[in-house]
Amino acid sequence: MELTSLVSGMTEFAANLYPLKTEEELVALLSGMHHFPPGVPERARRVHERLPAGSALCSSDVGVLIDRLDTEGGLGGLYKHLAHTKEGPLHLVPSITHCAVCALNGEQVPLVVKSSLGNAFPRPTVYLDGRGGVRESVLYCKWCPRCNAKHNMSYAEGGTILQRGEQLAYPGAMQRDNRFVQLSRDTIIETEVLVRLTSQMVHSHTGYETFATEYTELANLPPALADALQMNLAHAWLAWKVGFGVLRCGGTMRE
Ligand SMILES: [Zn+2]
Repeated sequence: MELTSLVSGMTEFAANLYPLKTEEELVALLSGMHHFPPGVPERARRVHERLPAGSALCSSDVGVLIDRLDTEGGLGGLYKHLAHTKEGPLHLVPSITHCAVCALNGEQVPLVVKSSLGNAFPRPTVYLDGRGGVRESVLYCKWCPRCNAKHNMSYAEGGTILQRGEQLAYPGAMQRDNRFVQLSRDTIIETEVLVRLTSQMVHSHTGYETFATEYTELANLPPALADALQMNLAHAWLAWKVGFGVLRCGGTMRE
């Protein structure tokens, strides 16, 4: 790219960001603006306190930057957009990087995403917490080049080592710090849904049916969806709670 065209294209943008000097400052500024929304007293001072140590900006610099950036369509509106957008399906990639099946023999085999699957990528239904509701997704499964096991969000299956119908859960896949849990091909559940269900079971004597009914109402979904959710929750919750190791189809735990 020609330097001159870069300079002319960036001049206005750069002027808006002056006197920011580093990416770290920009990230801290935007996350601070999100954390302290318009109307919070002493907003500029609070955001300023989140800037990286050594930043040369003063609190009034931050105030000017906030005024400049806090627009609907601009950088300041980014978080609002991310929090509320529901356009198209969710695009999900399992975070696991090495084959869980081959790892049983101590081997570290890097996984790959097959780009040639095109539209054949699985499209599980995702149950989000809160008002997120039910979303379609595209799951970019990973594959092991050695044993050919397919790796979903929480478990591996198929290939030449696992038996037919077996699902091998990843170590730690059921922990709360994983945003999603997947225990069947067609369904992914945001972990906080299961956490909430557990809490309500213990403290409010809630069951699958009542929880599913409440979920569909809060998410403004057709009441008929509660039946499907109830069945998915009953399957997922138990496996999630006991932290399954290897499940056979039908849910029998292998010793
Ligand atoms: Zn493998």
